[in-house]
Amino acid sequence: MNIEVTRGPGLRTHLPYETMKAVVVEEYGAPLKIKEVPKPVAGLGEVIVKTIAAGLCHTDIHAAHGDWPVKPKLPLIPGHEGIGIVESLGQGVTNLQVGDRVAVPWLGYACGECEYCNTGWETLCEKQLNTGYFMDGSYAEYVRAYARMVVKVPDGVDSFEAAPLTCAGVTTYKAVKMSGARPSDLVAVFGVGGLGHLALQYARIAGASVAAVDLYGDKLELARELGADYTINAGWKDPIGEIKKLGGADTAIVLAVSPQACEQAYKSLRRGGTLVLVGLPADNFMQLPIFETVLNGIKIVGSIVGTRTDLAEVFELHAAGKTKVIYEKRKIETVNEDYAAVEMGLVKARLVYEF
Ligand code: NAD
Ligand code: ZN
Ligand code: ZN
Repeated sequence: MNIEVTRGPGLRTHLPYETMKAVVVEEYGAPLKIKEVPKPVAGLGEVIVKTIAAGLCHTDIHAAHGDWPVKPKLPLIPGHEGIGIVESLGQGVTNLQVGDRVAVPWLGYACGECEYCNTGWETLCEKQLNTGYFMDGSYAEYVRAYARMVVKVPDGVDSFEAAPLTCAGVTTYKAVKMSGARPSDLVAVFGVGGLGHLALQYARIAGASVAAVDLYGDKLELARELGADYTINAGWKDPIGEIKKLGGADTAIVLAVSPQACEQAYKSLRRGGTLVLVGLPADNFMQLPIFETVLNGIKIVGSIVGTRTDLAEVFELHAAGKTKVIYEKRKIETVNEDYAAVEMGLVKARLVYEF
């Protein structure tokens, strides 16, 4: 296909470009568009990945709305739960081969040189770039990625299951690790969506008991199927009182897109408990009483995705049959309806785009 390219002021030319189908955010809060855009070409240290599956994370919705204090680039191709096959290699790529099946995660670039990168905290690298936010993502037939940032998907892991593991999985695996949950602990999981349905499984793998909280009955039913010991519908019952009746939570992990859920999770903790904040509502603030936090010895932890090594561990657990990924397939043409369905709580766990 020939597309018109603008080269500097007034200089227009028609070049033969290869194109691809992609979802594009052109304006915050406007409907997403399906467009033919130029297919990316691999530069130094980069690869082109032909997409097989791409999960819809609630972060993609925040990005399209421009919900957060730091805004994504525009125009933007969303998606940071991409699984695909390496189609071509840029110069200098030695860690991958054409044909490898890889995950393209949120951490699209980390410098590899700073104190964070070199102490196992690449997720805090100040030079990081994020896929589907500052770099184009996987809601497209092809995605360009830094070769050293993608993670190989083991043979035993299905691509459509690998997709949600690439963000929802690694993020909640890390959150459970950060909580330090132990076998005698009660872990409260607030929000049983894409992230929450995996969080409760990692808490169970750590040996803890789980109380799952959501506003929808079918999500709580899923939580029970996946091993939650207790379920609480926060639309009907006060989750603080219900969790206190169980002795209070040692850890509460918040995956709900709601400051109110953060406050409830905080109040459901027992003394010495840990609040792990993961969900990122547009409304950025919660009430936090200083007196109770101090006297009760509460720990508050912010947890952001996970490293490449965390993701490799997540895949290893899944290949060993220890986790279940609940998803439904979609085609990118329904992206606007899909975003609305996720926002209305109508999706059981995860939607995954099929290419
Ligand atoms: P999701 O929409 O699939 O799940 C959210 C769940 O929370 C839904 O089941 C919903 O019914 C439930 N919920 C909403 N309000 C609630 C309330 N008041 N009490 C209890 N449950 C409630 O979203 P997701 O893809 O799982 O993402 C969740 C959040 O995590 C988003 O804000 C996303 O941006 C964020 N996120 C953070 C990280 C990170 O690294 N920190 C990574 C990925 C996603
Ligand atoms: Zn995500
Ligand atoms: Zn760094």
